[in-house]
Amino acid sequence: MSVPQVGHLDPYFIGLMDEIQELLRYSFQTDNQLTVPISGTGSAGMEACIANLVEPGDRVVVGCNGYFGGRLAEMASRYGGEVESLTKPWGEVFALDELAGALAEHRPAILGLIHAETSTGARQPLDGVADLCRQHGCLLLVDTVTSLGGLPVRVDEWGIDAAYSGTQKCLSCPPGLGPVTFGARAAAKLEARRSRVTSWYLDLSLLLAYWGGGQRTYHHTAPISMNYGLREALRLVAEEGLEERWRRHRDSAEALWSGLGEMGLECHVAAEHRLPSLTTIRVPEGVDPGGVVKTLLAEDRIEIGGGLGELAGKVWRVGLMGYNSRRENVDRLLAALRRILGR
Ligand SMILES: *Cc1c(COP(=O)(O)O)cnc(C)c1O
Repeated sequence: MSVPQVGHLDPYFIGLMDEIQELLRYSFQTDNQLTVPISGTGSAGMEACIANLVEPGDRVVVGCNGYFGGRLAEMASRYGGEVESLTKPWGEVFALDELAGALAEHRPAILGLIHAETSTGARQPLDGVADLCRQHGCLLLVDTVTSLGGLPVRVDEWGIDAAYSGTQKCLSCPPGLGPVTFGARAAAKLEARRSRVTSWYLDLSLLLAYWGGGQRTYHHTAPISMNYGLREALRLVAEEGLEERWRRHRDSAEALWSGLGEMGLECHVAAEHRLPSLTTIRVPEGVDPGGVVKTLLAEDRIEIGGGLGELAGKVWRVGLMGYNSRRENVDRLLAALRRILGR
């Protein structure tokens, strides 16, 4: 990212854009033509999906079992969606029959789910969800911010209509771009819109004049260095290979979970729904959660997160994402936690 920049219409940069799109398709496991990095962080990717897919009056069902489901619902309502939030205690996930019930009752145009809920550490199973959406004539929109590059995300095989992600989670890139992919059904909804996308900046039909191949025309100046960074991060994902990368995330998470168990610490999420990229640990009785976070940073230079929302003060959140998801980091954290909790 510190190498000299070229112009946003320089033939070299156009070639680099093509490479980014190809590498993003690999990471998302999709052939979707409409696969682009939105300028902005993961939330810009989220907002791009909502801004383009939701028309005023569209009913949108959102799975709210954590902080980011709430953000998705908030955005959908700001773009005129009639939002139905399905709620669940934080750390739990939605069962297929619960989603089926919600689609039958509310008949939405879009179902939005958070695949990897970073605020709770829960992985939402997606098996069968796309079929359900097709039966009910609705689109499936999935947040893959904390899953892309860390655990299986198979956009085409799973029938996901639209997905977005960010760069600084399992892709191990600085924050600043929001990869987005739209399948044929999502692209058709975009094309059939009765009203213009209210965000000019995030309007994919305008962005495609720049990213869509053919004659490239200026929309906004691409953040050049950030795109250099994403290209390199995605190149490293491809070099390692997705299967290998998913296995590495799984292995280090399992080492963490078993080490925590040996110390008598409990994970907040049931084993079958735990994310390899984000683990929530229940704070033991009598321990000051914020004090442990501060001490870990001061004495060991390890940053972990505290609980958000319903889980504030109740859990710690440990990310094992991208480059950081490795055994030596798990061992360092476990040793530090053992020492600090021992005191
Ligand atoms: C981090 C995150 C976001 C938002 O991404 P930003 O880069 O912070 O804008 C959205 N969804 C989930 C699940 C996240 O973890």
